[in-house]
Amino acid sequence: MSVSIISRAQWGAQPWDGTPASVALSQRTEFFVHYDGATHISRTGNAIPRAIDEQHHRQGWAGIGYNFVVSQAGEIFEGRGWTMQGAHCPGHNVSGIGVQVAIGGDQEPSEAALAACRALYDEACRRTGRTLAKKGHKDGYATLCPGGPLYAWVRDGMPAKGYEPAPGGTAPADGTPARYQVTINGLSYGYGAEGDHVTAVGRALVAKGHGDAYEVGPGPKWTDADTLNYAAFQRSLGYSGADADGVPGETSLRALLGTLPGTTTTAAKAKAPAFPGRDKFRPGAVNSHVTRLGRQLVKKGYGRHYRQGPGPRWTEADRLNCEAFQRAQGWRGADADGYPGPETWRRLFA
Ligand SMILES: [Zn+2]
Repeated sequence: MSVSIISRAQWGAQPWDGTPASVALSQRTEFFVHYDGATHISRTGNAIPRAIDEQHHRQGWAGIGYNFVVSQAGEIFEGRGWTMQGAHCPGHNVSGIGVQVAIGGDQEPSEAALAACRALYDEACRRTGRTLAKKGHKDGYATLCPGGPLYAWVRDGMPAKGYEPAPGGTAPADGTPARYQVTINGLSYGYGAEGDHVTAVGRALVAKGHGDAYEVGPGPKWTDADTLNYAAFQRSLGYSGADADGVPGETSLRALLGTLPGTTTTAAKAKAPAFPGRDKFRPGAVNSHVTRLGRQLVKKGYGRHYRQGPGPRWTEADRLNCEAFQRAQGWRGADADGYPGPETWRRLFA
């Protein structure tokens, strides 16, 4: 399976408190599997990494400490990613890439979660050019983590049903183009991704003089040639190492296309909703406009106070997130009280 990673921006990560240190891929030798702790996890989707991020911020850390988090649905959420030092196992945060499978107690990991975790492991081996040691948290630190079922799985060699390891083993020679995908604004990029937006990237690469790897013109299916050309473009922006692996990030994609294609921009422009009135956003208010406001705040990166996804009941988290958005407009005092008026609404949906 390919590795499709949900970016921090997409799941609504809070900004780092200070910047975690960088770690070169050459320093990685281990892969640590974690669970969440003693309690079963019922959260799903973006709420999973957001809850961890919130907790790790509260502990005084820079933010979410795992390199990646995997859900029972098989989603992979970016935490510290490939290049940042994690905070997941004392003494092993430089040498080890830490991945949490979001389960707790005696909860059984799903096949989807195990396949996603295994795919991350193989991608980590591919990137580092070596076979990383497979470990559970308790192999590096006195703890119950990652719990019975997951630890047994690690000791078994991390098998995953229906999962085909990359041909040639888990650590292909250096120079193999990256073969994973990212999703930006609802569109996939990277090896195997398909669509008109892929052709558009290829054409833009050619236009910028980075079309050398194409033997035939760019097309709607993302191939190794797209990855190689995109890597050349990333290097032209000054990126190196894993940042220039040929798989787009939001910054490079915007630099290439001048805009980010996808759902957010077009949908928001097409129908900015009319302001529904101040009375809809008050303590005790329950209505769909509150949900809509919350979702838009998350989309714009102002979701840090939500412990659970935004909903129809107006809460203090809504007010705090809205206040953060208002303050980001340069407003102060009564203009940044966290209660939206027409101008907040207009700018939020602009
Ligand atoms: Zn752990």
